[in-house]
This record gives sequence, C-alpha cells and structure tokens, in this order.
Amino acid sequence: MAKRTLHKELGPNCSHCTGIAIDGPPRINEHAKSIILAAGVDVIPVQPSPADVWATAETADLVNEARMLTPNALSTPSGAIRRKNAFLPLSILTLRAFFRRRVRFAVGVRKDRTRRRGVGYTRRMLVCTVRGCGLALEKVDGGRRVVCGRGHSFDASRSGYINLLQPQDRRARVPGDAAEAVRARRRLHDRGVSRAMVDAVKEMLGARAGEAVLDAGCGEGFYLGTLAREAGIEGHGVDISTAAIEAAARRYPECEWIVANADRFVPYAEGTFDAVMTITGRMNAAELRRVVKEGGRVLVGVAGPEDLIELRGTGKDRGPKLREVFGPGFEPAGERRVTAKVELDAEGVRDARTAIYRPLGRGAEGGMRVTLSLDLMLFRAA
Ligand SMILES: [Zn+2]
Repeated sequence: MAKRTLHKELGPNCSHCTGIAIDGPPRINEHAKSIILAAGVDVIPVQPSPADVWATAETADLVNEARMLTPNALSTPSGAIRRKNAFLPLSILTLRAFFRRRVRFAVGVRKDRTRRRGVGYTRRMLVCTVRGCGLALEKVDGGRRVVCGRGHSFDASRSGYINLLQPQDRRARVPGDAAEAVRARRRLHDRGVSRAMVDAVKEMLGARAGEAVLDAGCGEGFYLGTLAREAGIEGHGVDISTAAIEAAARRYPECEWIVANADRFVPYAEGTFDAVMTITGRMNAAELRRVVKEGGRVLVGVAGPEDLIELRGTGKDRGPKLREVFGPGFEPAGERRVTAKVELDAEGVRDARTAIYRPLGRGAEGGMRVTLSLDLMLFRAA
C-alpha cells in the first residue's frame, strides 16, 4: 500500500476493473492519505484489525474529508454497500463474506454504534498507552480491569481510577503534584474561595447535561467534579499525579479518572469530547485539538498576573503566549479575567503557600487578605 507511485499506477493497470480494493495500513498516515485522496477511487472504510476501532474511526473520518474534496469520486460507507456488488463476481466465497463484513462494520462505526462480541464501540473510548499500541481499551471483569486487543492490561484502583502512565512518560519517580500540595489545594477549595472561578468556568464552557467533557490536568478534580454535579456533564479527568487522581476518584466517583501524562498523549480516541478544559495545567494544544469534536470548545485557564500577588509578587501575563499556542486549529471565542479577594486565616495562608510550592521557611504567619485571579480563554476547534 505505501507506494509513492500508487496513484499514478492505478489508472493504466486497472482500466478494465469495476472496483479496486486497496488494503491499507491500520493507521492512516499522511503518506497513505495523500495517495487515497489523489487516486480519486472509491474508498471503502474497513475494519483494520478486530479491535482497532480507533483506526477505523480515522478511516471513516478520512472518507468524509475525501467527500468534500471529490464529491463524486469517493464513496461513503453507504455508497460502499452499493459498490460491493463490484466484488460479487469474485469466485472466492470467503473473500466476498469478508468484504461484506467489513463494509457492515464500517457503516456501524459511521453511526457510532457498532457492536462486536457484545462490546460496544464508543467514541469515548480509552486507548492503550503502551508505546506504539494505541488500540481501544475495553472494560472487563466488571470494570475492574481494562485490556486492549494486544492483551495489554491495566487494573482499576480500589477507588476506581485507572493508571495508564507508562515508564517513559514519567519524569520523576513520583510525578506530578505531591500528596501534600494536593491536600492543601483541596482544603482551599473547600473554604469556598474558588466559587467565582468555577462559576466562570461553568458559564464560559456552557456545558450541558450529558455532554462529554475532558479536564486535562484535572488535579484533585474540583472543577470537573463540580461541573459534573452542578451541570450534569459526563466528566473525564486526566492528571499525571496519582495522589491527585486518587483524591478526585474518592470524592467524585461519578466521573472517570485516569493517571496519564496529558502533556504527551491524551489517552482517548480522536473527536471524543464535546468540550475540553485545562485549568492552570500545562497544555498540549495539538492533543486537545485531536480529542475534541469538530466545532467543540476548549477552555484554557491560567493564573492571572495578580494571582496570590501577596505571596509571590506579580506574575506574568500568559495571554499572548496562550493565543500563540492555540493558534493553529482553533478560533478564539471569548476571554475573561476572574479576580476575587479572600480573607485567609493563618492555616489558609499556609495551604496557599503549599499549593504553589512556596512554603514559608521559618516563623509563623498570620492571616491575610489575598488575591485570587484566573484568566480564562475559550477557543473553538476549527
Ligand atoms: Zn495495547
């Protein structure tokens, strides 16, 4: 399949054919894609391997893209059903059955409801993070374990989260926020100091009940968990810190919590989410673009320049950098700065310092009034 000259050779060699079947690689790479698009032949999206629904969805998306470029030359899955007659004269019966099954599968994927051996295909599917794998993960043993088609297996923890972090994705032995910082941040949220922020997030994201929302770098789950409870969204949280995800899963068991390095790879199939948010986390714009639906929303929150100015001095205005990072593939759809002044007692100040890794060296500190500030930017996946 991966022949650079394929699109040139198809014409002369196949002028007597009514149909041409090209068996491609399981994943669409740029090379294969250009050949398929340039060839201007019927594309029948097939099931690349028994469990590789991710690649199949990709193929189905490619057909849609191809239809826009050459509306008449390329067939949709339903077109493929009509065209399958081209394969009926084939004398090898098993091959005919094979094509029929593949076309049926492709149509099902297009409609988002293929079922194979009782396992539902869903666009919200987790994918395997073992290097070079990327197959869909299926829940087995009543949800106590997820496995991929190659047999890679991940156990759910007692509190219900799944750790998909791979050795190559760790930078430290215990990556991400330490348990102490996680606890301090949760105590701060529990004081109600973040109410204005979570209200602004809820409003800007405009999430409706039942929508699938990803929180990349979700920490201990305050924003996602609150949205799930107050707006009825279907929440999926990813963070690299096991301590943070453990805390999130214990408090908000209604959401799905995953330990993974979202900076490198968000372990979900493309086009999974109606909306994605990342609040004061680092961000990988390309990965967020991949997992959000066409036209979906991405809400990015960064600490405003005055956030905790009393404890750490004036911070950077991260707006310009953010607009640069979220340039390709996104359209700006709104900005807002939320600022609140809150009174903290001595314990609260200590927690705020721990949460930003600026613990006071010596001596006691009293209570004080501090500024909390969050810059929010909304983008639309274009
Ligand atoms: Zn795997």
